[in-house]
Amino acid sequence: MAVWCAVRAGLRPWSSRLRRFSQISSAKSRDLQAPLEPDSLLFSQEHKDLKESLRKIIDKEINPYIDKWEEDEQFPAHKIFKILGQAGFLGVDKPTEYGGMGLDFSYSIVVAEELGNINAGGVPMAIGVQSNMATPALCRFGSSELKKQFLVPTIAGDSVACLGVSEAGAGSDVASIHTTAVRKGDDYVINGGKMWITNGCQADWMCLLANTSDAPPHRNKSLICLPMKLPGVHINKKIDKMGMKSSDTAQIFFEDVRVPCRFLIGEEGMGFTYQMMQFQEERLWGTASVLKQLENVVQETIDYTRQRKIFNQPVLYNQTVHFRLAELTTEIELLRALLYRSVALYIKGNDVTKFASMCKLKAGRLAREATDSCLQFWGGMGFTNEVLVSRLYRDMRLVSIGGGADEVMLSVICKYMDILPKKM
Ligand SMILES: Cc1cc2nc3c(=O)[nH]c(=O)nc-3n(C[C@H](O)[C@H](O)[C@H](O)COP(=O)(O)OP(=O)(O)OC[C@H]3O[C@@H](n4cnc5c(N)ncnc54)[C@H](O)[C@@H]3O)c2cc1C
Repeated sequence: MAVWCAVRAGLRPWSSRLRRFSQISSAKSRDLQAPLEPDSLLFSQEHKDLKESLRKIIDKEINPYIDKWEEDEQFPAHKIFKILGQAGFLGVDKPTEYGGMGLDFSYSIVVAEELGNINAGGVPMAIGVQSNMATPALCRFGSSELKKQFLVPTIAGDSVACLGVSEAGAGSDVASIHTTAVRKGDDYVINGGKMWITNGCQADWMCLLANTSDAPPHRNKSLICLPMKLPGVHINKKIDKMGMKSSDTAQIFFEDVRVPCRFLIGEEGMGFTYQMMQFQEERLWGTASVLKQLENVVQETIDYTRQRKIFNQPVLYNQTVHFRLAELTTEIELLRALLYRSVALYIKGNDVTKFASMCKLKAGRLAREATDSCLQFWGGMGFTNEVLVSRLYRDMRLVSIGGGADEVMLSVICKYMDILPKKM
């Protein structure tokens, strides 16, 4: 299905490329003189073909318009998701029954990495919300009817999804959210509000976390598919941000919004647990999307400092500059290695909460260090809005905050190491 969609979209379908490659003898295809790509021991030709197809969309449909979308503080989510959906990129690891490609999560990771070639952080983040942050719980625990209604159009790019967890008074402490969904007859009546919602101004539905009972905080929450065009859903404002400009971020209020109880994902009361599971994919996906962005910042800095001469020599020739760029490149590779290890464990069914938290923590820390160091080497040019390094310096500051702040990741890691203080 996705392959044919890719044909319709004028792209060379990656699986037909696979067939083409498989016809070449392995001896011939493995040029021993060619340098190994860092991922070549782990990823198949299929992974690489998938990346190549996506790169064509990025170069043709996204990067030429990205500066305009940054200025507009919103990208056209419906248009871009339709293009990505038709080519299969919004459901890489989702079942074919619902329009997905039916591949494992490692394929989503190479897609996330490739999306790092988009020249701004906002659009990859918005795509990630659609493909791997708002939908994993629905896919795993939702009824078949619910998946047909919400997952199928999301994978196809006909609907825009958002994830509603954070609130004005509850971000790091997810258990303390106040939004309620109270059963009245066959409906839930929803009251409260959500804050910082990516895609929120354009979304057709939200994967909503709400309190559905008075049970203790980890057992009183449920995930509900909430259509956004219902009476009582108010988009209060598009939040004015320092970065991630091309991604719209909304504050949303709910006033007696009625949704059928059958829109509940899985079991009532299991929402907190489902969301914590969903966060694992979000954190791995988010880490993958950072790698290429960081590599591109480093590469652009190498190119710039090589041609920029001060004191009669390229800036790059200063040892402090080229050593720092080598150090950062080493760190990026270490993060990639940790990510691939985590993904390998995840697709074999292991709980990777600790590893996903380590990935997210290191991605946030490194994003800050790398963009800051690189920006410095650009001098005054780095302080302008003309260059990628300053945009990513702003955009990537979010990695240490969104989807669980660094300190939350440290707390999770400590919990798994059993070193959190206990009651005396
Ligand atoms: C651009 C953007 C997009 C977002 N998109 C979404 C989205 O689509 N859906 C969604 O639900 N949410 C979204 N968020 C919300 C995001 O996940 C939260 O901002 C994040 O979880 C932090 O919550 P908070 O902002 O309420 O900070 P707070 O919870 O108030 O935390 C403030 C700070 O306290 C510190 N802190 C937290 N916990 C600890 C601790 N245990 N020990 C020590 N210090 C600690 C950290 O430094 C933290 O940054 C988005 C946020 C932004 C900015």
